[in-house]
Amino acid sequence: MNIVLMGPPGAGKGTQAEVMARNLFVPHISTGDIFRANIKAGTELGRLANQYISKGDLVPDEVTMAMIKDRLAEEDCAKGFILDGLPRTIGQADALAEILAEQGKKLDFVVNIDVPIEKLIERLSGRRVCRNCSQTYHMVNNPPVEAGVCDECGGELYQRADDSEETIKNRLDVYLAQSAPLIEYYQDKGVLFSINGDQAINKVLTDVGRGLGQNW
Ligand code: ADP
Ligand code: AMP
Repeated sequence: MNIVLMGPPGAGKGTQAEVMARNLFVPHISTGDIFRANIKAGTELGRLANQYISKGDLVPDEVTMAMIKDRLAEEDCAKGFILDGLPRTIGQADALAEILAEQGKKLDFVVNIDVPIEKLIERLSGRRVCRNCSQTYHMVNNPPVEAGVCDECGGELYQRADDSEETIKNRLDVYLAQSAPLIEYYQDKGVLFSINGDQAINKVLTDVGRGLGQNW
């Protein structure tokens, strides 16, 4: 199953994608995670991407699409994938369709996780991420068993630099201006369904599963 997960920053894409990927036996591909891994490793791509990520702006389409083209060509994507964080512009959506067509694939579902904008600041400012395995927590909504320590791997939890209040505001503006139009884009293609993301994590997961025809 080839799936795109959409929604504003903080909607819960990463949280849902982790479980969906395990249930569907397909890779969870987060463009944000790939960029952050490159920043951590000090690669050329990481240095370039960080100039945009640190301000909450989008990394240019050509850079992002070159990266994702390589990732989608990897063998583990043969049976499907969950794309989390891409596309974020109409240009990326068109480019993605071309890449998939070249590989003889298409998108089966685009899942839009809908959360009111005013809830997102609280979600993003309380987010903590594992430095080691990227597992995501929330200080209040989804805390780890032991404060500051990842339940999955024991790694150290940290706050993303772009989860500061000022950068969050720009990210939400960028979402509304550049990414929200994708809802209509995919609605017109007949592949999109929307889920109410303003519910408990497990309830969102059940609703996503129902839309995908999965009874998990
Ligand atoms: P995204 O990948 O869309 O940016 P995340 O999955 O990282 O979003 O979630 C953002 C923050 O909100 C995290 O701290 C996460 O633990 C929390 N969160 C995710 N889903 C929910 C939910 N349904 N209810 C409350 N908090 C949530
Ligand atoms: P995320 O982890 O999805 O919140 O993404 C973090 C940051 O990475 C974003 O604010 C962007 O700067 C960058 N990024 C992630 N995905 C994309 C994309 N598809 N296009 C451009 N920039 C992206």
